[in-house]
Amino acid sequence: MKTQICIIGGGPSGLMLSQLLHLKGIESIVLERCSREYVLGRIRAGVLEQGFAKLMREAQCGERMDQEGEIHEGFYIAHDNKLDRVDLFKHSGGSSVIVYGQTELTRDLYEARDRMNGEVLHNVDDVVLHDLTREAPYVTCKYNDENIQIDCDYIIGADGFHGVSRKSIPADVLREYERVYPFGWLGILSETKPVSPELIYSSHERGFALCSLRSQVLSRYYIQVPLSDSVDDWSDEAFWNELKRRLPVEVAVKLETGSSIEKSIAPLRSYVVEPMSYGKLFLAGDAAHIVPPTGAKGLNSAASDIYYLYHALLDHYQNDDDSGLDNYSAKALARIWKAQRFSWWMTSILHRFPENSSYDQKLQQIEIEYLFSSDKALGSLAENYVGLPYGG
Ligand SMILES: Cc1cc2nc3c(=O)[nH]c(=O)nc-3n(C[C@H](O)[C@H](O)[C@H](O)COP(=O)(O)OP(=O)(O)OC[C@H]3O[C@@H](n4cnc5c(N)ncnc54)[C@H](O)[C@@H]3O)c2cc1C
Repeated sequence: MKTQICIIGGGPSGLMLSQLLHLKGIESIVLERCSREYVLGRIRAGVLEQGFAKLMREAQCGERMDQEGEIHEGFYIAHDNKLDRVDLFKHSGGSSVIVYGQTELTRDLYEARDRMNGEVLHNVDDVVLHDLTREAPYVTCKYNDENIQIDCDYIIGADGFHGVSRKSIPADVLREYERVYPFGWLGILSETKPVSPELIYSSHERGFALCSLRSQVLSRYYIQVPLSDSVDDWSDEAFWNELKRRLPVEVAVKLETGSSIEKSIAPLRSYVVEPMSYGKLFLAGDAAHIVPPTGAKGLNSAASDIYYLYHALLDHYQNDDDSGLDNYSAKALARIWKAQRFSWWMTSILHRFPENSSYDQKLQQIEIEYLFSSDKALGSLAENYVGLPYGG
């Protein structure tokens, strides 16, 4: 097989890039290790920056997002048994975020790829990247019990944190930066009315909690748990009771509970690899960086990579200009590191760290008090939460 761009990974990053390129007449093949049902069954992110939403519209995939997604102009931080609201619209100078689940937007991207006869090969195995520093790279894999080879101009590694692309770069070329947090998030999805129309991030002495939502009939709640906990340790009842304890009384009394339809524990990690390119291979999304979900920057960081890559590839094919590809890694990383800083900061002020002294805990409390006493501090939070501009 032959194509211009071989994309490894059929998550949001890979599908979005494939769709955008197709609309400009650039061919790609997407290789996905899992079945479509499996990919669409994963419950992940839900808060989109406007930059992401714009890309979805440009990819002709924004219709359902614009109809069903909810515009959020603020969120709450619960602390000391009270709720303080962050007015994103006011403090960001008129911006907002859109609540629309990753599952739904991935479905929209798959439907668009199908509509346009895009080539997405599912259940591929043994993906191997070859000749990355040569003129003509290629990818081999097993598909439908056959060994196939895909010759291409460029390979995009959009295969998530556990994918094969990053590992195809020689170890001595890569520099890894990592922080593993000593806790995870236990999350449940339930068909109940959300306790609040806007997200509530709660800082509590028993640990962090988040009240989030996917729609007005589908709630997503999280509590911070030790890494040693497993899902089986938490009945639905135990989860709801613990969540209520970590919320201000005025919120806890309104909480509608019900059976969970999904329950999982996600460990929290900050991770970046540099550089994000090697020869003809370009990494995008979780393949190159991970953030803890506090602040909702995971999927949104993937989107900015795709924006830079898309424009760099357009410049290559349409204008014979390779400067975008040459500068991709540096440009993407400049924004990624700011999202890393913000996610780390949100995580640090809202969670209980086992190693924290009483002094550290007092500082966390003062950090939140300062935030709500200063328009400038709120402006900085809002600017980062709605998403920094992609720039040039
Ligand atoms: C449990 C969980 C909860 C999350 N919650 C949030 C959240 O609340 N907010 C937020 O902003 N972000 C969240 N994230 C992060 C967000 O979901 C990711 O940033 C986003 O999925 C990145 O998209 P991606 O396409 O780069 O990677 P992925 O979505 O991981 O897609 C990569 C794809 O590559 C495929 N693949 C892997 N290896 C191979 C291979 N060898 N060959 C072919 N295909 C391969 C995988 O099957 C997968 O479909 C969460 C992530 C996880 C894991």
